[in-house]
Formats: sequence, C-alpha cells, structure tokens
Amino acid sequence: MDLDHGMAAKGKRAVTLIPGDGVGPECIEAARRIIDAAGVSLEWDEQQAGASVFKRGIASGVPRETIDSIQKTRVVLKGPLETPVGFGEKSANVTLRKLFETYANIRPVREFPGVVTPYSGRGIDLVVVRENVEDLYAGIEHMQTPGVAQCLKLISRKGCEKVVRLAFELARAEGRRRVHCASKANIMKLTEGLLKRTFEEAAREYPDLEAHHIIVDNCAHQLVKRPEQFEVIVTTNMNGDILSDLTSALVGGLGFAPSANIGNEVAIFEAVHGSAPKYAGKDVINPTAVILSAVMMLRYLGEFSAAAKIEAAVLVTLEEGRARTGDVVGYDRGTPTSVYTETIIANLGRRPQSRELRDYRPLQLPRVPAAPDLVKAGRRRVVGADIFVEAGLSAGALGSSLEQIVADGPFKLKMISNRGTMVYPFTGTLPDCVDHWRCRFVLHDRTAELRDEQLLTLLSQISARHRWMHVEKLQEIDGEAGYTLAQGED
Ligand code: NAP
Repeated sequence: MDLDHGMAAKGKRAVTLIPGDGVGPECIEAARRIIDAAGVSLEWDEQQAGASVFKRGIASGVPRETIDSIQKTRVVLKGPLETPVGFGEKSANVTLRKLFETYANIRPVREFPGVVTPYSGRGIDLVVVRENVEDLYAGIEHMQTPGVAQCLKLISRKGCEKVVRLAFELARAEGRRRVHCASKANIMKLTEGLLKRTFEEAAREYPDLEAHHIIVDNCAHQLVKRPEQFEVIVTTNMNGDILSDLTSALVGGLGFAPSANIGNEVAIFEAVHGSAPKYAGKDVINPTAVILSAVMMLRYLGEFSAAAKIEAAVLVTLEEGRARTGDVVGYDRGTPTSVYTETIIANLGRRPQSRELRDYRPLQLPRVPAAPDLVKAGRRRVVGADIFVEAGLSAGALGSSLEQIVADGPFKLKMISNRGTMVYPFTGTLPDCVDHWRCRFVLHDRTAELRDEQLLTLLSQISARHRWMHVEKLQEIDGEAGYTLAQGED
C-alpha cells in the first residue's frame, strides 16, 4: 500500500471515518476516543454513508464526497450502515466493498476473558477469510420464467487466487500453522471446485503451513464440535458469511466480532454487526467489535504498539469485569457504553493476566495485477449448447417437438433436464417438473466445432415453436469438459 496517498497536510495519517447508522455513531465515538487516548496521531475525515444518504435521494447510499475521501485516504473506519426497505435498492455496505474491490473479508474470533460461553476454556482462536466480492453476492439475478428465479454464482480464478494467497499471508503474519479451505466442491465442481484447486496450487508455495481442504458443511459441524482445531479458514462469499456469524457466536456474539475488508488499494474496517436500531442512542451497546476493528486498522497502518496497547486494555477491562456491557450481563445491569469506553481508556498501558498478546508481523498483500485476467487455454472447442426453454408441456412432448426441429440437421438432442435432473430421454424417475427446461444439443460429428451460425439457426428454429430465455455454450477446455452433467446423464 502506498501510504503517501493517505497523508494529510500536517503529516498525520488521514483516515475516512463513517459513523454510520443506529448504534454506529456511539461505537465509532468509543473507538475514536480510545485511539486518541492511546496517542496515535490520525487525521479523521468524517463522511456520511447509509440511511441519511438514501434519504437525500442517492440510491447507492454512498455520496461522491465519501468516495473522494476514500480515494484519498485509502483507509476507512466505519460504523454499520442500515439497508432501508422501501428506498435505495442496494446495500451501501456492499457498494463500498465492491467500489473499492476489497476482495477479502477477515473475521477473527478469539475467546475473551470474562465473557462466559459454552466454549469457555477451549482456547478458540481462529480467523475466517471470506471472499468478499464474487459468488452469489455478485448480485446477478434474473427471473427465468414468471415462476423460476436464477442467481449466478460467479467465481473467478483471479478472485480465488487473491483471497487464498491473502489467507496464507495472514497465517504467516500471525504466526499460525495451518490453513483450511472450506468449500462445497463435492457438489459445485466447477465454481466451488475452482477455489479448492486454486488453494491446492497456492499451498505449494507455502510449505511452512499445513493446508487442508474441508467440505463446508462438515466445517460448520466441526466448528460447533471442536472449534479449537481451526486457525485460518478461507472460503467463498456465501459460505464465509454464514460460517463467520457462527464463529462470532462461539466467543460471545456480535458485540465482540471485528472485521477488515482488504483490497489492493483500500481497506475498510468495521464490526460484523449491523445498526442494532433498538439500542441506538441509549448508551447501552457493546462497542468492542468496532474497537477491535480499529485495532486491526492500526496494525494495517503499521501502528503495532498502539494496536497492542488498545487490545491489552480491552482484555484487562473484560478480565477484571468491573465494566461489562448489557449483552454480557443483561441490559438491566450493563455498564453504559460511555463508562465502558472510559474504563478501557483508564486501562491503557496495563497488560492482561490471562492471555498473551499475539506477535503480529506486517501483512504482505498478494500482488495480483489489476488488469483483467485473461486466462488462455491451450485448446478450446465448443461442442454443443444448453438452450433453456420455458414450456408448459411434459418432458416427452417437449422432447418430441425438439427432435422434430433438429431432424436432418447437424444437431442431436442429447437430453433435457429439469432443475438439474435428466427427464428426457425417459429415465423412469419421477421428478416434479417446473416450466424451465435445459435442452442439451450436441453435434452429430463429435470431432467438429460448433459454429455460431449453426447455433443461431437452431435458436431461431426453436423460437418459432417455444419461448427460450438463455443459452450456454458447452466448451471443452484443454480436453476437459467445461460443463457438468445433469443428474442421471452420462
Ligand atoms: P444487527 O444490527 O447486527 O443486530 C442484530 C442483533 O445482534 C441485535 O438485536 C443484538 O442482539 C445483537 N447485536 C448487534 N450488535 C451488537 C453489539 N454491538 N452489542 C451487542 N449486541 C449486538 O442485525 P439486524 O437487526 O439484522 O440489522 C439491522 C440493520 O443493520 C439492517 O438495516 C441491516 O441491513 C444492517 N446491517 C449492516 C451491517 C454493516 O453495516 N456491515 C451488517 C449487518 C446488518 P439482541 O437483540 O439479542 O440483543
């Protein structure tokens, strides 16, 4: 990272500060007071995003001034942003993550002294590294028919490579020994499989670290059963979203779960939790998650001793238990947020008795070129096409109609599937069909390459009888099928 970009006029490091919505301003105020009290010299550039911005009619929830500030400072400490229902379409959080390509979301959890959970004493100390931009969260959704919706699960080799390498680098920077890749590659062999394959390739460059693959559902099971076996878990966006909420619950809940969104140029630090509107303005919220997000930010800025000083003061405060927030002891007995913050400030300079602080080294961001990733194949051939058709017919009736269309032409109707299961030619099974059919066509000549004119002719012939909604070419890449078979197809 080029720190010069973020230097304010007086030589202080500038940071964009977004107080956010709901409990955000109270949590951010707590973090800011503690950082100032720890003697770190930062120039806060306060900006807005979220509900107040949606109300101004800015549909993204992120105004120009905020984008300009982040482009200058490259580092953001933010409170949670509400995603209002009724105005403003997309989440301002997701917009910020995507605008600045913060491709990895780092979510550490570690057992806290004085925060009693069913897992206390097990020594939980792990980090979930979640891919932050791609997957189902690319937000590419289409209604295929009035009754069938589709969301594209987009996974790129470049996206996988960045997040996987970051996970290995993070393990090194934190002195950890093992990294797990959690995927659903057993079912989604191409998309989730790409993460697994990229992980296994990258692992060869990190021989000092153990690399293990685990199926994500078993990972969830193991996290509940024996969480202490994990150190770093890298996973796709949707899996990471779910696993990391699970892991925050293991150590005391959302009030204790910090996070960092890391990109090549910009990093955004925020709690995992949202705006918790029912607690807003009541001086009762637990600000620890935002304070620890600020600690992660200080490390990112190279302020290791200030980060350690603040982390130690939080741990001393929790260890002594004189100031405990409502989420830990009940809201009728909880310490006000402001008093909890003052207690942490008073504890700056003290060291916790119950645990050693980790020795952090600077995180080396993987250098992946910014240019679009053109992955070239040695050999590549289009061998057929899946044409998706909407029809209220039976599988047999649709099959005969399509057979008539391709009769005497270069194509053969290989099969029709419905929601992934082959239903034509008749297989003897009884799937419950909907009006969305994948019709797979291949060339009679298995050695030939499908030409676009042939496909366009086929499409126009089909559209004379049926409504089609999309086409996928079937490609062979370096001799391997770049598509999966339907359930029951061979
Ligand atoms: P939420 O704000 O995280 O709150 C859910 C519950 O978690 C709270 O009711 C509370 O539980 C607990 N909680 C959250 N933060 C806490 C803290 N600091 N200390 C103690 N307990 C805490 O989730 P939500 O109610 O689903 O979402 C509210 C809004 O926030 C929505 O508009 C959502 O879109 C947004 N959101 C933003 C972000 C972000 O900015 N990154 C993330 C998630 C959600 P109890 O009720 O059990 O006390």
